[in-house]
Amino acid sequence: MSDYMFTLESHLTGEQYRVVTQVQKAAHEAGLSLYLTGGAMRDITGGFPVRDLDFTVEANPAKLIKSLLKTSGAEVVSEDEKTRSTELKFPGGVTVEIAMARIEKFAKSGAKPRVAAATIYEDLLCRDFTINAVALSLNKASLGLLIDPSNGMGDIERHELRTIHNYSFYDDPGRLLRLFRLKVRLGFNVDERTRSQVENATEAGMLEKISTESLGAELRNMAREAAPHDLIKVLEEEKLLELYSPALAAGKIDYATLMKLQKAHQLVPFGVDFEIKHLPLFLECLFEKLNAKDKAAAMKAAGITRGETGALEKLAPAAKKLDKALQSAKLQKASSLYELLVSTPGEHILHLAVFSGQRIVQDRIKHYFQKYLPMSLEVTDEMVAAAGAAPGTPKFKKLKHEMILKHLDARPKKVAPPPEPPPPPPPMSGFARGSAVRRS
Ligand code: ATP
Ligand code: MG
Repeated sequence: MSDYMFTLESHLTGEQYRVVTQVQKAAHEAGLSLYLTGGAMRDITGGFPVRDLDFTVEANPAKLIKSLLKTSGAEVVSEDEKTRSTELKFPGGVTVEIAMARIEKFAKSGAKPRVAAATIYEDLLCRDFTINAVALSLNKASLGLLIDPSNGMGDIERHELRTIHNYSFYDDPGRLLRLFRLKVRLGFNVDERTRSQVENATEAGMLEKISTESLGAELRNMAREAAPHDLIKVLEEEKLLELYSPALAAGKIDYATLMKLQKAHQLVPFGVDFEIKHLPLFLECLFEKLNAKDKAAAMKAAGITRGETGALEKLAPAAKKLDKALQSAKLQKASSLYELLVSTPGEHILHLAVFSGQRIVQDRIKHYFQKYLPMSLEVTDEMVAAAGAAPGTPKFKKLKHEMILKHLDARPKKVAPPPEPPPPPPPMSGFARGSAVRRS
């Protein structure tokens, strides 16, 4: 096995690795060349947790996607016809993007590029930063071969963010926001030449060329970041918040709330399938100090949809309801608290972790994340199958849930006390000794 295939296996979660092998098998059967790329490769080789798996196929991946939908229970989350990229969610919560290898040509700064099919090598050279432009072959003939035309591996080792070519920010000025988001997320430095490219592009007015669509996409990406406080701080320093809201840029940022959100993210154990809509929660915290007019202007600048606005409006009232429910005396048993929270949208729970002033609510949320959710993972699919349900069926899901509830309420098994030590021998007085001898 190549070193990289080994790193892949040892670094991904069990669920993620299973998905890689499923996609690999389906691509092989469809006769398609498949590569693991983008953030997934960066995070595996850099030792960061992998959020989603990015695959690139050297052809139209439609056949592969069709076969995966049929065989794996995956669902489509979104599709982009132009780039032929599809986001899928697999059972167990693993998210995957499968895209066609492509060249992108930008006729105008910030405009949509012209897209054409390409080889993996050409595709990598059209990406944003060198650390995101590494591919691992998952094809039988070249399994484990690394393709790294811009020496991304060197930059991952050096912890440096570097553009692939001098006009990167002119082609797609949205990359300016991506750059600082990645800098905060990974804790990398911006390479010196890239830093001057940022300055040149900014002086040339490239910030104004960032499309509303691109601003919205980045805001949605920011909302998923684990360190929103640190990220907003850097964006403020880089004078990039103006792009969304002059009021925010003028200092109306509630850093204390953003720090609470950052801490709330840390409560969620890595690797659990935790359903959450990040955007409304992030916006609620980010816009905490803005008035209604400034909020509306910021949402317009980012092209926030009606559905997203609706989700934001509903969040606080829904969290308030949950706040009440979490104070109930009926939640003494671990299983009752688990049952309530496992079926509650994640953003409602984290909203309370940020905003609730009730001690009991905060404690119960902590117990759920730190005790009950990790305990629920101790009930494995193998255990449920052994109890007689077929994986993938509704019966399986129901039985697993019941087994988890039972497991949560089971008292920890008492370790059997060691056997009573034999009574100490009687004192060695002449009388006792004598009597003992007499009795035997
Ligand atoms: P994450 O962990 O947030 O998913 P990521 O780097 O994988 O990080 P994605 O948005 O999933 O981010 O994008 C996948 C890959 O597509 C990136 O790693 C990069 O190679 C490429 N990419 C994304 N956005 C751009 C862009 N604006 N310009 C060029 N390449 C991009
Ligand atoms: Mg990704």
